[in-house]
Amino acid sequence: MKEIILIKNGELVLKGLNRSTFESMLIKTIRRRLKDLGKISIKNAQSTIYIEPVEDEFDFEEAIDRVSKIFGIAAFSRCAALNKDMDEILSVVADYVKPALSKVKTFKVIAKRSDKSFPFTSPEISAQVGGAILSAMPYLKVDVKNPDIVVSVEIRDYAAYIHAGQIHGAGGLPVGSSGKATILISGGIDSPVAAYLMAKRGLTLNAVHFASPPYTGPLAEKKVKTLLEKVAAYSGDIRLALVPFTEIQEAIAENCKEEYFTLIMRRMMMRISEKLAVASGSKALITGESLGQVASQTLPAIGVTDIVTKELPVLRPLIGMDKEDIIIISRKIDAFETSILPYEDCCTVFTPKHPRTRPTIEDCQEAESVFDFEPLIEKAINETLYTRITRDGEAV
Ligand code: ATP
Ligand code: MG
Repeated sequence: MKEIILIKNGELVLKGLNRSTFESMLIKTIRRRLKDLGKISIKNAQSTIYIEPVEDEFDFEEAIDRVSKIFGIAAFSRCAALNKDMDEILSVVADYVKPALSKVKTFKVIAKRSDKSFPFTSPEISAQVGGAILSAMPYLKVDVKNPDIVVSVEIRDYAAYIHAGQIHGAGGLPVGSSGKATILISGGIDSPVAAYLMAKRGLTLNAVHFASPPYTGPLAEKKVKTLLEKVAAYSGDIRLALVPFTEIQEAIAENCKEEYFTLIMRRMMMRISEKLAVASGSKALITGESLGQVASQTLPAIGVTDIVTKELPVLRPLIGMDKEDIIIISRKIDAFETSILPYEDCCTVFTPKHPRTRPTIEDCQEAESVFDFEPLIEKAINETLYTRITRDGEAV
C-alpha cells in the first residue's frame, strides 16, 4: 500500500502573503528538505499539496518528521493512497487506521467525494467504512458529535485517500518569506531558541559566533555548530561566521575597568555583528536576551548595547519570556541537552566579579575611549571564517 502526505490549503498559513508566492516557496522548501530521501512527486491541485514518494525504499517516517518541521504548515495528514475501488478501500481501511484508533474510544467517518463518477455517495461511503472499522474493532463506538478521532475518506481526482486525524505542523511562516537576519549564537540555552523563533516568523538565518581561543576550545565551537544543526532542521541551512575575539577581549581586560568588561564586550559583539550582517544582506540582528535574566540584561545594560547598532534593528524574541518557557522550547527543538554541556563560552572567560547593572552610555563611552578598538574590529572581521551548517552537520 502506498502512503502519501497531504497538505490542504486550510492547513497552510497564508495570512498576509500572496498565496501563489507562498505556495511555491513552500513547495521549494519541501523539495529541498526531502531531496536526499529518494525521488518524490509534488503536485499542487484541488487546494491541496500532494507529496508522493516515487521509489519503494523512500524513508516515509523520516519524511513525516521533516515535514513536521517545515514552517508555514499548520497541519498535514499522512494518508493511504488507494485505487478508487470500494472493495479495496474496505479491505484496507481497518488495518490502516488501527494504530490511531487503538488509543481512543470513539470515532466517526467523514467521506468526501470530489470525483462524482465514483458509484457511491458520501453517506454510503461513510456507512460502509464505519461498518468495516466496527467489525474489526468492536470495542469502538461511533460518536458523530464529539468523536476522539475522525477517519477521512476522500475520493479525489487521482486516487482515494484514507487518513485518521491530522498531524500538527510547525506553524509559522515559510522560511525566507520575511527576508534574512543574523543570529548572535552562543553555546547557551537562549540564543538557539531565539534563532528558532525568528526562523518561524519566516526569516532565513545567518549566524555569528565569537570565539576566544585558547580561552575557549574546539569543543565550545563544536557545541555551537551542533546547536545550529538543531535549528537548521527547521530553518534550513545557516551560514555561520566564526569571529576570532581573543584580541578584543584581551584589550578590554587590559584597558577597561573590570565592572565594564561584559558590557563593552557586548557592545563590540554588536558592532562586529552589524557589519557582518549588513555585508551579507541581513536586515536585522537577533539575540537571545531576556529582560533581567543576568546583569548584562537589565534595561540600562540592554540600552547601552542596543545603542551601538546604527543600521539594523535588533530582534530579541525572548525579551519577555521566563527561563522555564525558554527551556520548554529548547527541549522541543532538541537543543537543551547540547546547550547544558559545560564548555567555556567567551562570555564566561572574563566575567567581572561586580558587573555594572545600571550603566550609562557616557560611562561606557568613557570606558571604551581608553583604547583604539576600530582597528581590532577590522582585524577580527578580516580574520572571520565562514562555514555552512546543515541539519546533518557542516557542509563541505
Ligand atoms: P545564551 O543562553 O544565548 O548564551 P545568556 O543568557 O547566556 O544567553 P549572555 O551570555 O549575556 O546571555 O548573552 C546574551 C546574548 O548575546 C546571547 O543570547 C547571544 O545572542 C549573544 N551572545 C553571547 N555570547 C555570544 C558569543 N560567544 N557569540 C555570539 N553571540 C553571543
Ligand atoms: Mg551565554
